[in-house]
Amino acid sequence: MIDSGIAFLAPHLCSGCGNLGVLLCGSCKNDIMDEPFLLCIACGIGLPGANGICRVCDVPYDRAWCVADRRDHLQRLIGNFKFTNAKSAYKPLADLLDSYLPELPRNTIIVPIPTVSSHIRQRGYDHMLLVARHLGRLRKIPLDTGLYRTSTTQQRSASRGQRITQAKTAFACKQSLDPTKIYLLVDDVVTTGATIKYAAQTLKDNGATSVWVASISRQPLD
Ligand SMILES: [Zn+2]
Ligand SMILES: [Zn+2]
Repeated sequence: MIDSGIAFLAPHLCSGCGNLGVLLCGSCKNDIMDEPFLLCIACGIGLPGANGICRVCDVPYDRAWCVADRRDHLQRLIGNFKFTNAKSAYKPLADLLDSYLPELPRNTIIVPIPTVSSHIRQRGYDHMLLVARHLGRLRKIPLDTGLYRTSTTQQRSASRGQRITQAKTAFACKQSLDPTKIYLLVDDVVTTGATIKYAAQTLKDNGATSVWVASISRQPLD
């Protein structure tokens, strides 16, 4: 386990093996890719169909991908990115999504899940915007940053029930969306699934007809 102080001073240690060089070495990236997330992204339990969603879950998005469980190397990489100022972690995280996602249609638009503004202030950067932008560069896909948070409530310490209630009214769109486009919501961690659900619902309420979801990780159920 990398101590957060060390990671801050020496950001180019691999979050997996601790070797000097990059934040995620090739071997540790392979470890993550070798154990992909295989369950339904919405409930974390059911076996998904080809669209990544199980038959029980009724969600406002049409397809979903999730790279892996949030544990081991990936948990530390995301932790370093969000909590120890390892800003350049957006590159290996976007690279994981790029390696994992299939080829996307030309009419796809990337929409980052908006970060809580107090977290942007604490970190000095909008971590999801950085990931989404880099993924857009790698895939030559444009970004739409019109989805925003209507509240500044913090999720980190909230209970499961509080998170779901907060998420319900958390989002709005700056402008109406193009029904001929596919909007790909990009998130780092799916926990209850409430955030992606209500973010996707907001996109559909504002004119989107196709909403897809790509998450880097899902919090394992204990
Ligand atoms: Zn490594
Ligand atoms: Zn499900």
